[in-house]
Amino acid sequence: MTKTVLVTGGAGYVGSHSCKAFAEAGWSIVVYDNLSRGWRDFVQFGELFEGDLLDADRLDEAFEKFKPEAVVHFAAFAYVGESVDQPGLYYENNTLGTVRLLEAMAKAGTDKIIFSSTCATYGVPTEMPITENMRQAPINPYGMSKLFVEKVLDDYEVAHGIRSVKLRYFNAAGASPDGEIGERHEPETHLIPLCIEGVLNDTFKLTIFGDDFETRDGTCIRDYIHVMDLADAHMKALDYLGGGGASDVFNLGTGTGTSVLEIVHAVERVTGKPVPREIGPRRPGDPPALIASAEKAARVLGWKPVQSDVDSVIATAYQWHLKELARKAAL
Ligand code: UDP
Repeated sequence: MTKTVLVTGGAGYVGSHSCKAFAEAGWSIVVYDNLSRGWRDFVQFGELFEGDLLDADRLDEAFEKFKPEAVVHFAAFAYVGESVDQPGLYYENNTLGTVRLLEAMAKAGTDKIIFSSTCATYGVPTEMPITENMRQAPINPYGMSKLFVEKVLDDYEVAHGIRSVKLRYFNAAGASPDGEIGERHEPETHLIPLCIEGVLNDTFKLTIFGDDFETRDGTCIRDYIHVMDLADAHMKALDYLGGGGASDVFNLGTGTGTSVLEIVHAVERVTGKPVPREIGPRRPGDPPALIASAEKAARVLGWKPVQSDVDSVIATAYQWHLKELARKAAL
């Protein structure tokens, strides 16, 4: 019998790409999403059940109707700057929303959840690469709203037997290579899409947020991971919990860092066009470097990124943005 997975935030960026992977692996998918930041046209691999995480009755309805075997929980707000200005939004939607979801799971007897956590829970790490057991000390409400959920999940296991896999993403990037879905944020704040914007739009100039960090070229270093590799990790995490695996936490990154300037140069290399840019001040809350140790996910889940080299990430993102340009022109 086909098993059903309930995917919150399945209309968003990482959620929609993961649904594609789940569908290819034979899962039946229900996307629970309020479309506040997701996109109806990204729900291509299952049924959309519109609902808000804070709406307990609607959640109960979804669990009663679909009786999901497991939950994969992407739905969240994820802008660091916004979280600093409006922490209430983050603690309400990300933290309290997850409590509501877990209550519905406990009631319905669904006992497995994969949770999208973040390297932002580490704050400013003192050692690199970052391993899962390092101190977590977020420096913004976004990271804190996710760290709270990590703790809440442990309590729900004790009280209700809900096992969880927490996946701490590093920098998700790229798009489905077949061009079906990609990265669409409004507003867009992420580095790779903005570099591509610079290539495609004559009037746009990228601001590099600081070139005086203690890194090899003075710009920030991040660990970029292809969204389809992330999707594959979720698939493996689902299999792991389904096979009786104990609750655990994994970094999802490549173990390799790339600087902002290196990304700019790679976008120029891949697209063959210049990225107009200027140096601006540092962005508050940006640690100089974030690089994952990906050793644990490889060892326990058997997961290895296979398409996260920077050129592949950028090439798929570029293809997607060309398609988006055509879509917008046709509107
Ligand atoms: N960045 C930048 N200019 C931009 C957007 C991002 O210099 O317009 C830098 C940012 O400071 C960080 C890196 O690019 O060092 C990645 O930022 P992004 O917002 O893509 O992801 P984050 O690391 O914040 O999750």
